[in-house]
Amino acid sequence: MTATSALNLVELSKINGSFEDASPEDIVRWADATFGDELVFTASFEDAVLVDIVATAAPTARVVLLDTQYLFAETEWFAEELRRRYSLNLGIERPLAHVVPDNLWQTDVEGCCQIRKVEPLQRALLGKAAWITGVRRVDAPTRATAPIVSWDAGRQLVKINPLATFTDEQMATYELLHDLPRNPLVARGYSSIGCWPCTNPVAPGEDRRAGRWTGKAKLECGLHA
Ligand code: SF4
Repeated sequence: MTATSALNLVELSKINGSFEDASPEDIVRWADATFGDELVFTASFEDAVLVDIVATAAPTARVVLLDTQYLFAETEWFAEELRRRYSLNLGIERPLAHVVPDNLWQTDVEGCCQIRKVEPLQRALLGKAAWITGVRRVDAPTRATAPIVSWDAGRQLVKINPLATFTDEQMATYELLHDLPRNPLVARGYSSIGCWPCTNPVAPGEDRRAGRWTGKAKLECGLHA
């Protein structure tokens, strides 16, 4: 571990355990106090819950949106709405200059996610000590055991999932209590929102990520594998 001079794996594990019943606000406050300028929050702008929490508990934190060239117009609009509402320190991370819109998503979804999501994320995290994500355990079976705080060995920094334990009901309650705006796609059945070529609305009762890469074996874009 290099980025967390004050924390070792044992300490991270203890902190993770102690956060099991903590509020997301307290987790984000801890992250802000521990990592300061070396903290980044990657937001998908699927909803406003974690944006609201970060804007309150860590108001100067760097927020990053990965612009894959295939974001829904609604998501771009929503990100701008939230940027203005919270005066977010928002940065847009784009693919490298040679990557232009093409047909890769039709033939090679792994390769497409690699150049449009994974590589730009690596740049967004460069020099950072910790990143906050919106991963929740109820998102999908692949995320069912997601820790709250862990060492991301692949990226060599601490990964923090403040909403890991949050249920759909808790998300809805938080949105109501805080009168949060919503991504317009949610009302149209999109329970998980990524790129438009690879995201479909889901039917009631379906897994909330069933609309992602429908018909393909792919379950994750590579950011949280
Ligand atoms: Fe490409 Fe689809 Fe991955 Fe977006 S989700 S980067 S369009 S393969």
